Amino acid sequence: MDLKAQKERLINELIDLGYLKTEAVINAFRKVPREEFVLPGHRDYAYANDALPIMEGQTISQPLTVAAMTEALDVRLGQKVLEVGTGSGYQAAILSVLVGRKGSVITTERIKALHEIAKRTLGMCGFANIVAVNCDGSQGYEKIAPYDRIIVTASASKMPQPLAKQLKVGGKLVIPIKDELFLIEKVSAKEFTKTFLGYYVFVPLIGKYGHKG
Ligand code: SAM
Repeated sequence: MDLKAQKERLINELIDLGYLKTEAVINAFRKVPREEFVLPGHRDYAYANDALPIMEGQTISQPLTVAAMTEALDVRLGQKVLEVGTGSGYQAAILSVLVGRKGSVITTERIKALHEIAKRTLGMCGFANIVAVNCDGSQGYEKIAPYDRIIVTASASKMPQPLAKQLKVGGKLVIPIKDELFLIEKVSAKEFTKTFLGYYVFVPLIGKYGHKG
């Protein structure tokens, strides 16, 4: 089966399992070539519903997890989204399609080699509305805060306070804390609601407001 057919099969599987729900997210999954974000030797497995190793002992998240997190984040056209944990850049690419040309994605990665590879891949694939930054994303990215949406793709020990602060009132944040995934909604400057989304396994968030490196 060629990659195009494998991709359609994966998308249908994620729809049937209830992880992919909305037209916009399904369209983003169709548009982003996951095979460009995996290691060259893993291209044939790009559309298996599996997390795969990338460089530096990190992973590109399982498509099922990307689908669940992206649906919960509820991204709209024109929004400004912060991602913590660029990894391969795949999730950033999905967000890029969802915010459209008038929106922007700021994606942060602490490991320089990964940041550079992801930046190159994203550029090569033509995702022009993404700014990739090599920094400790547990501190957020204050320079251009606040954000409509924040997504953390590594597991925190507790909620990093700068992220809560850098989220707009009315904004949404999806974050794994230990092995539990949460949707946090900011209802006023100091009030948040927290919805449990399920159990997922992630690599640790390492940094000032995460685990010790
Ligand atoms: N979103 C990624 C993708 O689409 O490939 C998957 C991310 S991987 C599961 C988690 C990433 O978070 C790793 O690349 C790791 O280096 C990064 N990370 C961990 N702590 C971080 C921090 N404080 N700031 C930025 N990135 C961090």
